[in-house]
Amino acid sequence: MAQDATNNGVAIRYQGVSFSYESSDVPALDGVTLDVRRGERLGILGPNGGGKSTLLKLTLGLLRGYSGTIEIGGLAPADAARRRMIGYVPQRVEAELGFPISALHAASMAASVGLGPFASGKEARARAERALGLVGASEFAARPVGELSGGQLQRVMIARALASEAKILLLDEPTVGIDPAGQRQFAELIQRLHDELGLTTIVVSHDLRTVAATSDRVACLARTLHYHDSPQGLTPHVLAEVFRHDAAAIFGDLHVDAHRASECGHAHDHGHVYGHDHGHGHTHGAEGNSR
Ligand code: ADP
Ligand code: MG
Repeated sequence: MAQDATNNGVAIRYQGVSFSYESSDVPALDGVTLDVRRGERLGILGPNGGGKSTLLKLTLGLLRGYSGTIEIGGLAPADAARRRMIGYVPQRVEAELGFPISALHAASMAASVGLGPFASGKEARARAERALGLVGASEFAARPVGELSGGQLQRVMIARALASEAKILLLDEPTVGIDPAGQRQFAELIQRLHDELGLTTIVVSHDLRTVAATSDRVACLARTLHYHDSPQGLTPHVLAEVFRHDAAAIFGDLHVDAHRASECGHAHDHGHVYGHDHGHGHTHGAEGNSR
């Protein structure tokens, strides 16, 4: 009974998921185990090349040949995709492939796919208009997608993802190319959609601010899953470890000399992975390195 209740609370379950692209010797994902809780706002933070987009594409049934299991409400990714259970907002470059159609048309097309071949155009249009209204995009619904600002295009893409009334929303690097004001609006929008529609949201990003602003819980993904807890648990030390390779770019002069074995820590269940000395730390915080 208690076990049932727990399972019902899981939107997506990953168990030992590994995946390698054919052209590569190194796995893109290695043993990823994670429960995404129904109704949570999960952030997946990780460096470029960490496997974030790969994990989303596996979840959407767009890539085959993984090992382990992925279940969306108990269904395999391809079955979940057929039922349009997941709304997906791809990375901006992929979204931008400039189709010369209006925002409303883009959202209607998505809605009609979700409705199946026998639905009327009217119903699809009504759903699309509802979704565009939900994200505050009604006033530019008639404009060609290619003429919209980054923030406007993003709203249209979210409306599109929600037009089939999916309850799970995946967003891949949603703030790339969006200015700071737009990023704040985006975070507010995600919060509102989450609250109003009871969505489960997964925001994937290499940007800490994006993840912190849109998540209640954070998983770190750098090929393997290293850590998940509240954004408050992401101390500078944890971040320095996750972004070992990128750390210089993010923290400027920060000197990180992390041991391989301590890479992003061990998957402790509490929020203090780096709150104590592991006895092998050569990772210096910003204050230890300032001059
Ligand atoms: P992220 O989204 O976190 O930046 P990706 O999932 O895009 O990471 O990539 C994970 C790893 O897989 C990287 O090493 C990347 O180079 C590799 N990769 C991604 N897409 C392909 C592909 N189509 N073919 C071969 N390797 C790929
Ligand atoms: Mg990516």
